[in-house]
Amino acid sequence: MPAEQKFELLGLNLEELTAVAVEKGQPQYRGEQLAEAIYRQRVTSVDAISTLPFAFRTVLADAGFRIGRPVIHRSFASVDGTVRYLIRLSDSESVETVWMPEGDGGEAGDGTEAGDAESATRAPSWNRATICVSSQVGCAVNCQFCLTAKLGIRRNLSAGEIVGQVLDVLSDQKVAMEQQRINLVFMGMGEPFLNYENFMKAVRLLVQEVGFPESRMTVSTAGIVSRIIDFGKESIRPKLAISLNGSNDAGREDVMPINRKWSLDALLEAARTFPLRSREKLTFEYVLLRGVNDSINNAREVVHLLRGIRAKVNLIALNPGPDLPFGTPSEEIVAAFQQVLIRGGIPAFVRRPRGRDIYAACGQLKRTEELVAIGS
Ligand code: SAH
Repeated sequence: MPAEQKFELLGLNLEELTAVAVEKGQPQYRGEQLAEAIYRQRVTSVDAISTLPFAFRTVLADAGFRIGRPVIHRSFASVDGTVRYLIRLSDSESVETVWMPEGDGGEAGDGTEAGDAESATRAPSWNRATICVSSQVGCAVNCQFCLTAKLGIRRNLSAGEIVGQVLDVLSDQKVAMEQQRINLVFMGMGEPFLNYENFMKAVRLLVQEVGFPESRMTVSTAGIVSRIIDFGKESIRPKLAISLNGSNDAGREDVMPINRKWSLDALLEAARTFPLRSREKLTFEYVLLRGVNDSINNAREVVHLLRGIRAKVNLIALNPGPDLPFGTPSEEIVAAFQQVLIRGGIPAFVRRPRGRDIYAACGQLKRTEELVAIGS
Protein backbone atom coordinates (compact mmCIF):
# COMPACT_ATOMS: atom_id res chain seq x y z
CA MET A 1 0.00 0.00 0.00
CA PRO A 2 1.73 3.27 -1.05
CA ALA A 3 2.18 5.77 1.78
CA GLU A 4 -0.02 8.86 1.90
CA GLN A 5 2.81 11.23 2.67
CA LYS A 6 5.20 12.05 -0.16
CA PHE A 7 8.93 12.65 0.21
CA GLU A 8 10.75 14.28 -2.63
CA LEU A 9 14.21 13.05 -3.56
CA LEU A 10 14.94 15.91 -5.94
CA GLY A 11 16.51 18.62 -3.81
CA LEU A 12 18.43 16.21 -1.57
CA ASN A 13 22.21 16.25 -1.77
CA LEU A 14 24.44 13.20 -1.94
CA GLU A 15 24.74 12.93 1.82
CA GLU A 16 20.98 13.08 2.27
CA LEU A 17 20.32 10.58 -0.52
CA THR A 18 22.86 8.24 1.04
CA ALA A 19 21.10 8.58 4.40
CA VAL A 20 17.78 7.60 2.76
CA ALA A 21 19.38 4.50 1.23
CA VAL A 22 21.15 3.46 4.43
CA GLU A 23 18.01 3.99 6.46
CA LYS A 24 16.30 1.47 4.18
CA GLY A 25 19.06 -1.06 4.82
CA GLN A 26 20.96 -0.43 1.59
CA PRO A 27 24.71 0.02 1.10
CA GLN A 28 26.15 3.56 0.98
CA TYR A 29 26.76 3.53 -2.76
CA ARG A 30 23.03 3.48 -3.46
CA GLY A 31 23.11 7.19 -2.57
CA GLU A 32 25.51 7.81 -5.45
CA GLN A 33 23.26 5.79 -7.75
CA LEU A 34 20.25 7.88 -6.73
CA ALA A 35 22.17 11.12 -7.37
CA GLU A 36 23.38 9.85 -10.73
CA ALA A 37 19.86 8.94 -11.81
CA ILE A 38 18.12 12.08 -10.53
CA TYR A 39 20.65 14.76 -11.45
CA ARG A 40 22.64 13.37 -14.36
CA GLN A 41 20.40 10.88 -16.15
CA ARG A 42 17.40 13.08 -15.32
CA VAL A 43 15.17 10.13 -14.52
CA THR A 44 11.73 11.30 -13.39
CA SER A 45 10.34 8.33 -11.49
CA VAL A 46 11.73 5.98 -8.86
CA ASP A 47 10.43 2.99 -10.85
CA ALA A 48 12.63 3.99 -13.77
CA ILE A 49 15.94 4.02 -11.85
CA SER A 50 17.19 0.87 -13.52
CA THR A 51 20.48 0.77 -11.61
CA LEU A 52 18.63 0.06 -8.35
CA PRO A 53 17.36 -3.40 -7.40
CA PHE A 54 13.66 -3.77 -8.00
CA ALA A 55 13.02 -4.53 -4.32
CA PHE A 56 14.64 -1.25 -3.19
CA ARG A 57 12.62 0.73 -5.73
CA THR A 58 9.46 -0.83 -4.32
CA VAL A 59 10.51 -0.07 -0.74
CA LEU A 60 11.12 3.57 -1.68
CA ALA A 61 7.83 3.95 -3.53
CA ASP A 62 5.87 2.27 -0.72
CA ALA A 63 7.43 4.62 1.82
CA GLY A 64 6.17 7.59 -0.23
CA PHE A 65 9.44 8.58 -1.90
CA ARG A 66 9.22 10.05 -5.35
CA ILE A 67 11.54 12.15 -7.45
CA GLY A 68 9.19 15.11 -7.61
CA ARG A 69 10.32 16.80 -10.82
CA PRO A 70 8.20 19.80 -11.72
CA VAL A 71 6.39 19.36 -15.04
CA ILE A 72 6.50 21.49 -18.17
CA HIS A 73 2.90 22.55 -18.51
CA ARG A 74 3.18 24.69 -21.65
CA SER A 75 5.87 26.30 -23.73
CA PHE A 76 5.89 29.32 -26.01
CA ALA A 77 8.46 29.82 -28.76
CA SER A 78 9.70 33.22 -29.93
CA VAL A 79 10.78 34.11 -33.44
CA ASP A 80 14.28 34.65 -32.00
CA GLY A 81 14.61 31.06 -30.74
CA THR A 82 13.78 31.87 -27.11
CA VAL A 83 11.36 29.47 -25.43
CA ARG A 84 9.33 30.43 -22.38
CA TYR A 85 8.30 27.45 -20.27
CA LEU A 86 5.40 27.47 -17.87
CA ILE A 87 6.38 24.91 -15.25
CA ARG A 88 3.88 23.38 -12.87
CA LEU A 89 4.81 22.54 -9.29
CA SER A 90 3.34 19.80 -7.14
CA ASP A 91 0.83 22.14 -5.45
CA SER A 92 -0.33 23.40 -8.87
CA GLU A 93 1.46 26.72 -8.48
CA SER A 94 3.63 27.53 -11.48
CA VAL A 95 6.73 29.48 -12.46
CA GLU A 96 8.39 30.44 -15.71
CA THR A 97 11.77 29.41 -16.99
CA VAL A 98 13.31 30.78 -20.18
CA TRP A 99 15.61 29.08 -22.70
CA MET A 100 17.74 31.42 -24.81
CA PRO A 101 19.88 29.73 -27.46
CA GLU A 102 22.72 31.52 -29.23
CA GLY A 103 23.64 30.91 -32.86
CA ASP A 104 26.96 29.87 -34.33
CA GLY A 105 28.23 33.40 -34.81
CA GLY A 106 30.16 33.38 -31.53
CA GLU A 107 28.51 36.58 -30.38
CA ALA A 108 27.04 35.13 -27.23
CA GLY A 109 27.74 36.85 -23.96
CA ASP A 110 29.74 35.76 -20.98
CA GLY A 111 27.21 34.23 -18.69
CA THR A 112 25.65 37.41 -17.43
CA GLU A 113 22.68 37.54 -19.75
CA ALA A 114 19.25 37.95 -18.27
CA GLY A 115 16.10 37.73 -20.32
CA ASP A 116 18.00 39.85 -22.77
CA ALA A 117 21.23 39.11 -24.57
CA GLU A 118 23.67 41.09 -26.59
CA SER A 119 22.63 39.36 -29.78
CA ALA A 120 19.22 38.14 -30.72
CA THR A 121 20.36 35.82 -33.47
CA ARG A 122 17.74 33.43 -34.71
CA ALA A 123 19.16 30.12 -33.75
CA PRO A 124 18.01 27.12 -35.76
CA SER A 125 21.25 25.55 -34.62
CA TRP A 126 22.81 26.77 -31.41
CA ASN A 127 26.14 26.19 -29.78
CA ARG A 128 25.45 27.80 -26.47
CA ALA A 129 22.48 28.87 -24.49
CA THR A 130 21.31 30.57 -21.33
CA ILE A 131 18.59 29.32 -19.01
CA CYS A 132 16.85 31.97 -16.91
CA VAL A 133 15.66 30.35 -13.68
CA SER A 134 12.99 31.43 -11.17
CA SER A 135 13.49 31.38 -7.41
CA GLN A 136 10.04 32.22 -6.03
CA VAL A 137 6.40 32.03 -7.12
CA GLY A 138 5.74 35.74 -7.59
CA CYS A 139 7.87 38.33 -5.83
CA ALA A 140 7.65 40.56 -2.75
CA VAL A 141 9.97 43.33 -3.89
CA ASN A 142 7.42 45.37 -5.85
CA CYS A 143 9.65 47.03 -8.44
CA GLN A 144 7.29 49.35 -10.29
CA PHE A 145 8.46 48.39 -13.79
CA CYS A 146 8.32 44.59 -13.37
CA LEU A 147 5.34 42.41 -14.22
CA THR A 148 6.28 39.66 -11.78
CA ALA A 149 5.71 42.19 -8.99
CA LYS A 150 2.01 42.29 -9.92
CA LEU A 151 1.63 38.71 -8.70
CA GLY A 152 2.78 39.54 -5.19
CA ILE A 153 4.71 36.86 -3.34
CA ARG A 154 2.99 33.49 -3.27
CA ARG A 155 5.75 31.29 -1.93
CA ASN A 156 9.41 30.34 -2.03
CA LEU A 157 10.60 27.57 -4.31
CA SER A 158 12.34 24.60 -2.72
CA ALA A 159 15.87 23.74 -3.78
CA GLY A 160 14.41 20.80 -5.72
CA GLU A 161 12.01 23.07 -7.58
CA ILE A 162 14.84 25.42 -8.55
CA VAL A 163 17.04 22.58 -9.81
CA GLY A 164 13.99 20.88 -11.33
CA GLN A 165 13.36 23.79 -13.70
CA VAL A 166 16.87 23.43 -15.06
CA LEU A 167 16.54 19.65 -15.48
CA ASP A 168 13.17 20.10 -17.23
CA VAL A 169 14.62 22.52 -19.76
CA LEU A 170 17.79 20.46 -20.34
CA SER A 171 15.65 17.39 -20.99
CA ASP A 172 13.21 19.21 -23.26
CA GLN A 173 16.09 20.69 -25.26
CA LYS A 174 17.90 17.33 -25.27
CA VAL A 175 21.07 18.86 -23.89
CA ALA A 176 24.00 16.60 -23.08
CA MET A 177 25.87 18.39 -20.29
CA GLU A 178 29.32 17.36 -21.52
CA GLN A 179 28.81 18.72 -25.00
CA GLN A 180 27.05 22.01 -24.58
CA ARG A 181 27.93 25.34 -23.07
CA ILE A 182 25.04 26.41 -20.94
CA ASN A 183 24.84 29.49 -18.72
CA LEU A 184 22.41 29.73 -15.85
CA VAL A 185 21.05 33.07 -14.73
CA PHE A 186 18.93 33.30 -11.61
CA MET A 187 16.99 36.22 -12.99
CA GLY A 188 13.53 34.77 -13.48
CA MET A 189 10.56 35.26 -11.18
CA GLY A 190 11.32 36.22 -7.60
CA GLU A 191 14.15 37.61 -5.51
CA PRO A 192 16.73 34.85 -4.96
CA PHE A 193 18.17 36.55 -1.87
CA LEU A 194 14.76 36.48 -0.15
CA ASN A 195 14.84 32.69 -0.57
CA TYR A 196 18.51 32.47 0.27
CA GLU A 197 18.93 29.03 1.86
CA ASN A 198 16.97 27.16 -0.80
CA PHE A 199 18.62 29.13 -3.56
CA MET A 200 22.12 28.35 -2.24
CA LYS A 201 21.29 24.69 -1.80
CA ALA A 202 20.10 24.60 -5.41
CA VAL A 203 23.36 26.22 -6.52
CA ARG A 204 25.42 23.57 -4.71
CA LEU A 205 23.35 20.79 -6.29
CA LEU A 206 23.75 22.32 -9.73
CA VAL A 207 27.52 22.54 -9.26
CA GLN A 208 28.21 19.31 -7.41
CA GLU A 209 25.59 16.97 -8.85
CA VAL A 210 24.39 18.34 -12.19
CA GLY A 211 27.81 19.60 -13.26
CA PHE A 212 27.51 23.34 -13.95
CA PRO A 213 30.67 25.35 -13.24
CA GLU A 214 30.11 28.32 -10.92
CA SER A 215 31.61 30.57 -13.55
CA ARG A 216 28.63 29.85 -15.79
CA MET A 217 26.06 31.03 -13.26
CA THR A 218 24.95 34.53 -12.34
CA VAL A 219 22.47 35.57 -9.69
CA SER A 220 20.75 38.92 -9.77
CA THR A 221 19.46 40.70 -6.67
CA ALA A 222 17.32 43.78 -6.23
CA GLY A 223 19.77 44.71 -3.47
CA ILE A 224 19.19 42.68 -0.29
CA VAL A 225 22.35 44.02 1.35
CA SER A 226 22.58 41.61 4.28
CA ARG A 227 22.45 38.70 1.85
CA ILE A 228 25.01 40.22 -0.49
CA ILE A 229 27.37 40.13 2.49
CA ASP A 230 26.48 36.49 3.29
CA PHE A 231 26.84 35.57 -0.37
CA GLY A 232 30.38 36.93 -0.50
CA LYS A 233 31.37 34.40 2.16
CA GLU A 234 30.09 31.36 0.28
CA SER A 235 32.74 28.94 -0.94
CA ILE A 236 30.62 27.90 -3.91
CA ARG A 237 28.76 30.78 -5.49
CA PRO A 238 27.63 32.19 -8.84
CA LYS A 239 28.70 35.61 -10.08
CA LEU A 240 26.75 38.55 -8.72
CA ALA A 241 24.57 41.06 -10.54
CA ILE A 242 22.82 43.94 -8.79
CA SER A 243 19.74 45.70 -10.14
CA LEU A 244 20.56 49.40 -9.83
CA ASN A 245 17.84 51.07 -11.89
CA GLY A 246 18.26 54.46 -10.27
CA SER A 247 21.14 56.92 -9.99
CA ASN A 248 20.19 58.55 -6.69
CA ASP A 249 18.15 57.54 -3.64
CA ALA A 250 15.07 59.57 -4.49
CA GLY A 251 14.89 58.24 -8.03
CA ARG A 252 15.64 54.65 -7.06
CA GLU A 253 13.07 54.73 -4.27
CA ASP A 254 10.36 55.77 -6.73
CA VAL A 255 10.87 52.70 -8.90
CA MET A 256 12.27 50.25 -6.34
CA PRO A 257 10.59 50.71 -2.93
CA ILE A 258 13.18 48.36 -1.44
CA ASN A 259 15.61 51.27 -1.60
CA ARG A 260 13.92 52.60 1.56
CA LYS A 261 15.19 49.59 3.46
CA TRP A 262 18.59 49.34 1.78
CA SER A 263 19.71 52.67 0.40
CA LEU A 264 22.30 53.25 -2.29
CA ASP A 265 24.94 54.01 0.32
CA ALA A 266 24.54 50.62 1.97
CA LEU A 267 24.21 48.83 -1.35
CA LEU A 268 27.32 50.35 -2.87
CA GLU A 269 29.31 49.81 0.30
CA ALA A 270 28.44 46.10 0.06
CA ALA A 271 29.40 46.14 -3.62
CA ARG A 272 32.68 47.92 -2.96
CA THR A 273 33.69 45.44 -0.27
CA PHE A 274 32.38 42.34 -2.05
CA PRO A 275 35.17 39.73 -2.24
CA LEU A 276 35.54 39.27 -5.99
CA ARG A 277 37.57 36.36 -7.33
CA SER A 278 40.41 36.98 -9.71
CA ARG A 279 39.19 38.38 -13.02
CA GLU A 280 35.63 38.51 -11.68
CA LYS A 281 33.52 41.63 -12.10
CA LEU A 282 30.26 42.71 -10.58
CA THR A 283 27.42 43.40 -12.98
CA PHE A 284 25.00 46.25 -12.43
CA GLU A 285 21.74 46.11 -14.35
CA TYR A 286 20.03 49.35 -15.19
CA VAL A 287 16.54 49.33 -16.67
CA LEU A 288 16.05 52.53 -18.63
CA LEU A 289 12.62 54.10 -18.17
CA ARG A 290 11.74 56.88 -20.59
CA GLY A 291 11.96 60.30 -19.01
CA VAL A 292 12.40 58.78 -15.54
CA ASN A 293 16.00 57.59 -15.12
CA ASP A 294 17.46 57.85 -18.62
CA SER A 295 18.96 61.36 -18.76
CA ILE A 296 22.59 62.29 -19.31
CA ASN A 297 22.62 63.53 -15.76
CA ASN A 298 21.42 60.15 -14.50
CA ALA A 299 24.25 58.53 -16.46
CA ARG A 300 26.80 60.88 -14.88
CA GLU A 301 25.45 59.99 -11.44
CA VAL A 302 25.88 56.29 -12.22
CA VAL A 303 29.51 56.90 -13.22
CA HIS A 304 30.03 58.66 -9.93
CA LEU A 305 28.33 55.90 -7.90
CA LEU A 306 30.31 53.08 -9.48
CA ARG A 307 33.71 54.71 -9.50
CA GLY A 308 36.28 52.41 -7.92
CA ILE A 309 34.14 49.28 -8.19
CA ARG A 310 35.32 46.51 -10.52
CA ALA A 311 32.06 46.39 -12.44
CA LYS A 312 30.28 46.56 -15.73
CA VAL A 313 26.81 47.81 -16.49
CA ASN A 314 24.12 46.09 -18.52
CA LEU A 315 21.60 48.59 -19.83
CA ILE A 316 18.12 47.26 -20.52
CA ALA A 317 15.55 49.45 -22.25
CA LEU A 318 12.25 48.75 -20.52
CA ASN A 319 10.42 45.74 -21.83
CA PRO A 320 6.86 46.99 -21.96
CA GLY A 321 3.90 45.26 -20.36
CA PRO A 322 0.24 45.89 -19.65
CA ASP A 323 -0.36 48.27 -16.73
CA LEU A 324 3.26 49.38 -16.51
CA PRO A 325 3.24 53.16 -16.13
CA PHE A 326 6.54 53.64 -17.99
CA GLY A 327 7.72 54.02 -21.55
CA THR A 328 10.71 52.55 -23.40
CA PRO A 329 13.41 55.06 -24.34
CA SER A 330 14.55 55.40 -27.95
CA GLU A 331 17.73 53.73 -29.17
CA GLU A 332 19.40 57.14 -29.34
CA ILE A 333 18.70 57.83 -25.68
CA VAL A 334 20.01 54.39 -24.72
CA ALA A 335 23.16 54.89 -26.82
CA ALA A 336 23.77 58.35 -25.32
CA PHE A 337 23.46 56.92 -21.80
CA GLN A 338 25.88 54.14 -22.68
CA GLN A 339 28.41 56.62 -24.08
CA VAL A 340 28.49 58.61 -20.85
CA LEU A 341 29.27 55.44 -18.89
CA ILE A 342 31.96 54.31 -21.31
CA ARG A 343 33.61 57.72 -21.35
CA GLY A 344 33.45 57.63 -17.56
CA GLY A 345 35.50 54.43 -17.63
CA ILE A 346 32.67 52.00 -16.96
CA PRO A 347 32.18 49.12 -19.42
CA ALA A 348 28.55 49.32 -20.49
CA PHE A 349 26.54 47.00 -22.72
CA VAL A 350 23.07 47.29 -24.15
CA ARG A 351 20.97 44.19 -23.75
CA ARG A 352 18.90 43.29 -26.78
CA PRO A 353 15.59 41.90 -25.61
CA ARG A 354 15.00 38.19 -26.04
CA GLY A 355 11.54 36.77 -26.55
CA ARG A 356 9.58 39.99 -26.09
CA ASP A 357 6.93 38.65 -28.49
CA ILE A 358 6.17 35.77 -26.11
CA TYR A 359 6.52 37.79 -22.89
CA ALA A 360 9.77 36.06 -22.01
CA ALA A 361 12.01 39.12 -21.68
CA CYS A 362 13.27 40.65 -18.40
CA GLY A 363 10.44 41.79 -16.19
CA GLN A 364 7.77 40.14 -18.33
CA LEU A 365 7.42 36.83 -16.50
CA LYS A 366 3.92 36.66 -15.18
CA ARG A 367 2.71 33.14 -15.92
CA THR A 368 0.66 34.29 -18.89
CA GLU A 369 -1.15 31.54 -20.74
CA GLU A 370 -2.97 33.62 -23.31
CA LEU A 371 -0.38 33.09 -26.02
CA VAL A 372 -0.51 30.18 -28.44
CA ALA A 373 1.18 27.18 -26.87
CA ILE A 374 3.57 24.98 -28.77
CA GLY A 375 3.88 22.44 -26.01
CA SER A 376 1.47 20.05 -24.38
N1 SAH B 1 14.76 40.01 -8.26
C1 SAH B 1 16.04 39.95 -8.94
C2 SAH B 1 15.98 38.99 -10.08
C3 SAH B 1 15.11 39.43 -11.23
S1 SAH B 1 16.21 39.81 -12.50
C4 SAH B 1 16.45 41.35 -9.33
O1 SAH B 1 15.67 42.27 -9.17
O2 SAH B 1 17.60 41.54 -9.75
C5 SAH B 1 15.32 40.64 -13.58
C6 SAH B 1 16.07 41.83 -14.15
O3 SAH B 1 15.16 42.41 -15.06
C7 SAH B 1 16.38 42.89 -13.10
O4 SAH B 1 17.59 43.51 -13.35
C8 SAH B 1 15.24 43.88 -13.28
O5 SAH B 1 15.63 45.16 -12.87
C9 SAH B 1 14.99 43.76 -14.77
N2 SAH B 1 13.62 44.11 -15.15
C10 SAH B 1 12.51 44.00 -14.41
N3 SAH B 1 11.44 44.43 -15.10
C11 SAH B 1 11.89 44.81 -16.31
C12 SAH B 1 11.26 45.33 -17.48
N4 SAH B 1 9.94 45.52 -17.55
N5 SAH B 1 12.04 45.60 -18.55
C13 SAH B 1 13.36 45.37 -18.51
N6 SAH B 1 14.01 44.86 -17.45
C14 SAH B 1 13.28 44.60 -16.35
